Amino acid sequence: MMTINFTEPEERVALREAVKKLAGKYGREYVEKQAREGGKTTELWMEMGKNGFLGVNLPEEYGGGGGGMADLAAVLEEAAAAGAPLLMMVVSPAICGSIIARCGTEEQKQKWLPGIADGSLLMAFGITEADAGSNAHQITTTATRDGDQWVLSGNKTFISGVDEAQSVLIVARTEDARTGKLKPALFVVPTDAEGFTKQPIEMAWSAPEKQFTLFLDEVRLPADALVGDEDGGLWQLFAGLNPERIMGGALSCGMARYVLDVAVDYAKTRTVWKDTPIGAHQGIQHPLAKVKIELEQARMLWQKAAALYDAGDDFTAGEYANMAKYAGGEVSCNAADVAVHTHGGNGLTVEYGLANMLVASRLGRIAPVSREMILNFVAMHTLGLPKSY
Ligand SMILES: Cc1cc2nc3c(=O)[nH]c(=O)nc-3n(C[C@H](O)[C@H](O)[C@H](O)COP(=O)(O)OP(=O)(O)OC[C@H]3O[C@@H](n4cnc5c(N)ncnc54)[C@H](O)[C@@H]3O)c2cc1C
Repeated sequence: MMTINFTEPEERVALREAVKKLAGKYGREYVEKQAREGGKTTELWMEMGKNGFLGVNLPEEYGGGGGGMADLAAVLEEAAAAGAPLLMMVVSPAICGSIIARCGTEEQKQKWLPGIADGSLLMAFGITEADAGSNAHQITTTATRDGDQWVLSGNKTFISGVDEAQSVLIVARTEDARTGKLKPALFVVPTDAEGFTKQPIEMAWSAPEKQFTLFLDEVRLPADALVGDEDGGLWQLFAGLNPERIMGGALSCGMARYVLDVAVDYAKTRTVWKDTPIGAHQGIQHPLAKVKIELEQARMLWQKAAALYDAGDDFTAGEYANMAKYAGGEVSCNAADVAVHTHGGNGLTVEYGLANMLVASRLGRIAPVSREMILNFVAMHTLGLPKSY
């Protein structure tokens, strides 16, 4: 008889426990303090790397743990549930690490993967452009060949963590494919390259990770900065974007778990009607219970998407990665909303930190691909409806 296993393997359960312990040692207070004071989460990041948590998905021969996306997503979910939503995990080991591991040359893997795995090398990722937004087929950053070099010109926006990164994996198009459907060409661009400048974007969300607009003004790169084949097509990009969506789903689930725990604790202890805590009332209980159910649905979706990706079924993984990202974003927003409401006025104070989580949770609905673009994708590819955009 065929069985579907809905429990995680022992190793992953142990991995979760270990991450919970480490991230819990730092906790939400540490992350908020760093954000408030303009600091970073470097100590936590490096300790995560030293313990093998950041590179758990990368091949062992390049310093990784030899596991899969399901392991990396479990790490991120646990860190976020402990109050440390490490956004750069979505970018450096998941997107950049996966693309280099799957499409890079032997030299590129040796050069970049060990550092990504132990956390000493942080690689940001840049695809979004101001004039293209959700329509990546419209990006204009262009790579031109000049002898044995590449010359990159263009701009990117909302790129996370560039101030902490040594390089950015930039999605461009080649001179020959300047217009039309995107034929992505991926380049590792050092953040200290001549002609590369970054400008911080002032965000309303307080977090250690900052966002930047990038300008590339004839940035010269050696031939081996190109990762994969310039004619390789979209699959090379999706070798990173499917992991990004799975990780987005897991990150959102972790954040939802964190705020739900905080809200349940508060509901159990806050008493304003004689001896009964506010959590004794259905008006408080039901929204919390609903979030718990939505959370378990969303967690199952990212686990399924990751299992498909790890099994090598890129096509179906893509479908589920989108659904997982959608479900994660929704439950994260709903959980933050319910958590704030459960706290009454305290929900909006800086002391309780939930109002900031309310803003942070919106990220799951917007990035890396918006809720509406996922609905477009599912309507068209899963349901076979006509393309609407
Ligand atoms: C905190 C943060 C970090 C980020 N980090 C990175 C990063 O590291 N690297 C990177 O490359 N990008 C990053 N992004 C960018 C992110 O991926 C984009 O914001 C996202 O893809 C949406 O693009 P946009 O903001 O231009 O919105 P737009 O494309 O302008 O969309 C605006 C609204 O219109 C809706 N919309 C657009 N088209 C349609 C349609 N056809 N049908 C229905 N609705 C539609 C969208 O759903 C959205 O609600 C980050 C963004 C944020 C906020």
